[in-house]
Amino acid sequence: MDRLTTALLRIGQATRAISLEEARESGLTPVQAQTLLFVRRTKSFATTVGNLARALGSTHASAVGVVDVLVGRGLLAREQSAEDRRRTLLRLTPEGEKVCRRLVRWGHLLEESLSGLSEEERAALERGLGAVVWSLRAAGHLEVAEPCRGCVYFEEDAAPGSAEPHHCRLIERFISEEEALRDCPEHTPADLRPEPSPERG
Ligand code: SF4
Repeated sequence: MDRLTTALLRIGQATRAISLEEARESGLTPVQAQTLLFVRRTKSFATTVGNLARALGSTHASAVGVVDVLVGRGLLAREQSAEDRRRTLLRLTPEGEKVCRRLVRWGHLLEESLSGLSEEERAALERGLGAVVWSLRAAGHLEVAEPCRGCVYFEEDAAPGSAEPHHCRLIERFISEEEALRDCPEHTPADLRPEPSPERG
C-alpha cells in the first residue's frame, strides 16, 4: 500500500474517532447525529427513510431502527407527505432542532486540523480529494447529496418573482430558494452524466 493510501486510511480512522467524541458530547451516537443532520440539511420532500439509509450507507432496516430510537427520544417525528400519501417524511421536533443547533459545529476538530495549511495547500488538497470523492461516487461506493446549483436538472429562476422561482426537471416541480439550498440525494453534476453513445455512420 502506498503512502498516500495509508494517509487517507488514517484520516478516515481519525474522522471516525472525532465523530464519536463530538456526537457523545451531545448525548448521541455518531449515526444518530448523522441522522438528525440529514433531516436538517436535506430537502423537506426528500427526507425519507430510504434516502436516509443511502446517506448512512446502511440497510433500510438499520435506518428504521435509528429513526425509531430518535422518535422515541422526541427528537424526530414521522409525517405523511402531502403530495404522496404513501411516502413518510422525517421531521425534526423542536427538541431535535435544539440538539441540531449544538451539532452545527460537528466536525470542528477536523477543521482545526486543517488550519495550519496554506491557501495553496488547501486548494491542492481540495482538488485532489474532490477527484477521489467523485471517483468513489461514480463507482457507486459513496452517496453525495448536494444543493441544486450545479445539478443538470436545475433551472434557476424559471418563474422569476414567485415564491418558488426555481424548477427541477427531474421531479418536475418548482422549488423555493430555501429548498434549493438544501441537500438533494438526486443531485447530478454534469460530469457524472452517462457518456453519449457514439454516433453510428
Ligand atoms: S435533482 Fe437536482 S435540481 Fe432536482 S431537486 Fe435534486 S438537486 Fe435540485
